[in-house]
Amino acid sequence: MEKRKVAVIGAGISGLSIAHFLKEKNEVVVFEKENRPGGLIKCKNIDGNVYHLVGGHVFNSKRLDVLDWFWSFFDKGNEFNKTLRKAVINFDKNLWVNYPIENYLYMLPNEIIESVINDLLELKEQKKIEYENFEEFLLKNFGKTLYDIYFQPYNEKVWKRNLSDVPLSWLAGKLPMPSVKEIFYNNFCRIEEQSMVHSTFFYPQQNGSQFLADRLAQGLHIKYNQDIIEIKKRDNLWIINDLEFNAVVFSGNIKFLKQMLDSWYFSEDDGIFIDHLESHGTTSVFCEIDKNPYSWIYMPSRNHLSHRIICTGNFPSKCSSDRITATIEFSDFVDIETIKTNLLKIPLNPRYICHHYEKYTYPIQNSDTRERIASIKENLAQENFYLLGRFAEWEYYNMDAAIGAAMDLYKKINI
Ligand SMILES: Cc1cc2nc3c(=O)[nH]c(=O)nc-3n(C[C@H](O)[C@H](O)[C@H](O)COP(=O)(O)OP(=O)(O)OC[C@H]3O[C@@H](n4cnc5c(N)ncnc54)[C@H](O)[C@@H]3O)c2cc1C
Repeated sequence: MEKRKVAVIGAGISGLSIAHFLKEKNEVVVFEKENRPGGLIKCKNIDGNVYHLVGGHVFNSKRLDVLDWFWSFFDKGNEFNKTLRKAVINFDKNLWVNYPIENYLYMLPNEIIESVINDLLELKEQKKIEYENFEEFLLKNFGKTLYDIYFQPYNEKVWKRNLSDVPLSWLAGKLPMPSVKEIFYNNFCRIEEQSMVHSTFFYPQQNGSQFLADRLAQGLHIKYNQDIIEIKKRDNLWIINDLEFNAVVFSGNIKFLKQMLDSWYFSEDDGIFIDHLESHGTTSVFCEIDKNPYSWIYMPSRNHLSHRIICTGNFPSKCSSDRITATIEFSDFVDIETIKTNLLKIPLNPRYICHHYEKYTYPIQNSDTRERIASIKENLAQENFYLLGRFAEWEYYNMDAAIGAAMDLYKKINI
């Protein structure tokens, strides 16, 4: 029997993953608008150093099926370094406190510790499990002092909005939920937090996350430099660049899908909903900074606009010089003049090398986003057209969640 033909749009981690699953039983063509695979995980080599154009991607997962599948492509021992996260929060005036802050309260100045203890003792009496929004979650779990000095300024820099406008559904599964008793216990006994997905992580020995994308692209039929702008349906087949397909998996941005497909695939209401979906971009500044022992440095300071340094030069930690490369992140677009004046206020003496702005990096969900997207997905699925990935599903996926979503979609559609 002739194999069914399936088109996958996008060779990011989602598109690459689903293409592997589908190719077992189908003839699969991947269309990628850029000249290489990777999407958000792409990297450049600059003078022998890895520059992640977005973030500083590291890998791990709590899903065993995802780990098994992922490691079937790689030699874990020889191609990756396993690293223990060493993250820290830098407050102004040279105050450095390990991350997550609730486990390292003893590193704060005494007067702040006292105030945090008072807050936590008050919180002990309150037993709330459901929260209206992110602000309430933070205040009710960590108290006002930690909220004021860290959670609020840091998160407002990242999300650029009042935290009472951030629904919790958006961040579900990504938030720490220690009880007051656990916070005290972890501080008295100096317990390090190990439950978050990246508290240990794997990082390729060469080429950063581009290495993952390049390897996962092997064995797939990928057509590069093909920016798909129109998808038509004829005689029950999807037509993409004059090729016919029985089914399509779209892993690009749902905002652009509306213009690619005939308008009748979306109700007027869905069209308006998609147009109003919000997101953030990221300006990633590649720098040289002073050598330090950290993987991530979080910066709640209101004195400058950046929120995080990712010390990618430390990931394969063989560096012998007194400077390493790192990415300094800013939410949304920041021009070069602003970048340079901000770098002067950031610790570890950053020296600017280059920067990149990516417009779509963080999808923002409202309380009804998931439900609305689910209904759009269901309608399209009836036409053998499937949505998968961070901006196709408007989901705050990490790489492993994107792979997991590809796995789940494959099982569900069973083609
Ligand atoms: C700052 C930041 C840091 C992160 N750090 C981590 C981390 O450390 N670990 C981790 O696991 N995850 C991390 N993530 C999440 C991770 O980047 C995403 O989960 C993952 O890259 C999403 O992959 P995707 O394939 O869904 O989307 P994308 O990577 O956006 O891929 C979509 C692909 O489709 C292509 N495309 C789009 N439209 C078209 C079209 N019309 N025609 C042809 N091609 C098209 C694009 O060029 C792209 O290659 C981070 C994300 C950000 C923003």
